[in-house]
Amino acid sequence: MKLPELSEDCSRCAALCCVAYSFAEHEDFAILKSADTPCPNLGEDFRCSIHAELKPQGFGGCVAYSCAGAGQRVTQELFGGETWRDDPDLLPHMTRALRVLRPIHEALLILQEAAALPLPNYLSRKCAELTDALCPEAASSVWDFTEEHVQGALEELPGFVELLAPFATPRD
Ligand code: SF4
Repeated sequence: MKLPELSEDCSRCAALCCVAYSFAEHEDFAILKSADTPCPNLGEDFRCSIHAELKPQGFGGCVAYSCAGAGQRVTQELFGGETWRDDPDLLPHMTRALRVLRPIHEALLILQEAAALPLPNYLSRKCAELTDALCPEAASSVWDFTEEHVQGALEELPGFVELLAPFATPRD
């Protein structure tokens, strides 16, 4: 089992987060946008044209967002480095893949933190079991991540996290 990269590398992504999600009125975005629609601030080079002033321009949601490495994985591993600009037909497939992989990567980050806690054996074993289930072998398409055992592990995570409370060190 090999853990994927769990921090974002936008230089190897096709700006999927700037396309995949909707911006709703109640959220921290200055404009409304539908899912699967490129943000108007996104440049042709996949860079944000207002990156240096996201917060003052009302895009705090972009500052707070992290794909936990799912974006570059989708772009490079599942789509071989192709982009939705090279082939617009790829857009809904790439964005769906991001929406599937991001929660998995976020779950792996939580499990990584859990693994560093002084857990009793049964919880350490559960932590390793969930991590393993979320890292399907030789995954090459989004379908590998929608398999029942992967999604089942994701559903089990909140219950597992509740069991960690007695072992978590309070932060200062
Ligand atoms: S404002 Fe910039 S970072 Fe936010 S979605 Fe648009 S292009 Fe992406």
